Amino acid sequence: MKQLTLSTVLTNRVPNGGQSQRKPAAHTYLDKRVTKSQRENKRTRSQRARERLRTKEHLAQLAVGLGEVELAHKIERCHSRLSVLTCGRHIARIIPNFTCEFRLCPDCSRRRSRRLQNKYLPAMSAFMLHNKVTPVHLVLTQTHRKENRKQSAKRIKDSFTRLQRRGFWKQHFKGGTWSLEFTKDKNGLHHTHLHIIGFRRKFFDIELLRGEWLAVTGDSHVIHLKRIEDIATGLQEVVKYVSKPLDIRRFGSDDLREFLGLKNMRMFGTFGEFRDFCKDFEPSDNDADGGDLESLVRDLVEGCACPKCNQPLFDLRMSGKQLPQFYEQVESSPPDKVGTSWN
Ligand SMILES: [Zn+2]
Ligand SMILES: [Zn+2]
Repeated sequence: MKQLTLSTVLTNRVPNGGQSQRKPAAHTYLDKRVTKSQRENKRTRSQRARERLRTKEHLAQLAVGLGEVELAHKIERCHSRLSVLTCGRHIARIIPNFTCEFRLCPDCSRRRSRRLQNKYLPAMSAFMLHNKVTPVHLVLTQTHRKENRKQSAKRIKDSFTRLQRRGFWKQHFKGGTWSLEFTKDKNGLHHTHLHIIGFRRKFFDIELLRGEWLAVTGDSHVIHLKRIEDIATGLQEVVKYVSKPLDIRRFGSDDLREFLGLKNMRMFGTFGEFRDFCKDFEPSDNDADGGDLESLVRDLVEGCACPKCNQPLFDLRMSGKQLPQFYEQVESSPPDKVGTSWN
């Protein structure tokens, strides 16, 4: 089915006047993203911790540049002092002195995505048990227009609302979750994607869904669908995108300013029958941002047995800047050597 409208052809044209790379280019783009996220998972914890520190420094500098001194201060304070529960060979818990809760803060988005996982994974498992559905990861994309992130997000969410009203969608999907992802490509163009975990009632030809998406957007046909083999991994993959663009270190002042304007925008939600199911499943359901730090750390305290080796945990105090080095020490320490130089 190749019903490309004129605007599709125009908006898909390569800006430098190169040859048309319509569908393959879009798919290559998505595939690269997947490879990139796999590569990121391969990095050691110390490397990732170092990266988070650099990202936060970068964000704080941008905030200062915009005159957002208070925000910069909060980002700098966030995770600046840590209480690390460790047996010397494993790190069981890290308790920060302060969390800034800024959406782009890499430390805070990690915690937020853990909270979302803790909250929705049990509901998803139960929903799948009660219904004969197959989970799929669906990525909906849209063509570029001259618009800011807010307008772009509204456009894709509105299209998704229209999609859900259509017979085809209702017939094939029993609900799920959606999350927004913002990225920028190497030409500086903004992409807004919707990542959906959909509970599929029955198999369908992807080309039919492509046609439905084209019908509600008027000009967008690039979608990506894969079956989720393991729902825990699938959910983890999707919540990672929530308000956390992978290109954050290439953020400029304008990007940050624009992002600050999105303050109250919802980035994650449920839809369809899964939405109602979640309400019943967890009546005390409050917004994803309302989770508290306590619940993450209350199980383990100093003196408890390390979950990995049963040795007693002790409480190491360190600055956030020392954490990557400590990870390194833990990663390279021989099995019987306990790191005591940190007290
Ligand atoms: Zn933070
Ligand atoms: Zn241990």
